Amino acid sequence: MSTIFKKIIDKEIPANIVYEDDEFLAFHDINPAAKVHVLVIPKKEIKNLDAATEEDALLLGKLQLTVAKVARILELDKDGYRVITNIGDNGGQEVYHIHYHILGGEKLPVTLK
Ligand code: 5GP
Repeated sequence: MSTIFKKIIDKEIPANIVYEDDEFLAFHDINPAAKVHVLVIPKKEIKNLDAATEEDALLLGKLQLTVAKVARILELDKDGYRVITNIGDNGGQEVYHIHYHILGGEKLPVTLK
């Protein structure tokens, strides 16, 4: 089942987009948990890391490289940043379309790990 992120991919609802290519999209989180909080998603709908398969191996690799690329666009690479992906209920996942949170722009509390 599609999520709100599919609507963002399809430009049915607006988002503050940082980066886009054929396979990936990065946009600012609507409810930032840090000074800089950006989400990076593949356009392919995969629920989360647990739902990914061998077929997704290349996409997942590229997703991580895209995370690093987006962090450089945001100029977070010099001072560092944190990358999080939440999986399922206990992980606190709200949107069931795989995404990596990029958090940075300040010294992050350990509780966000
Ligand atoms: P999760 O808890 O699933 O790992 O993270 C989902 C994230 O998506 C949350 O941080 C939430 O603030 C963000 N989010 C949910 N709906 C929207 C939306 O419509 N637009 C944007 N930009 N972010 C959203």
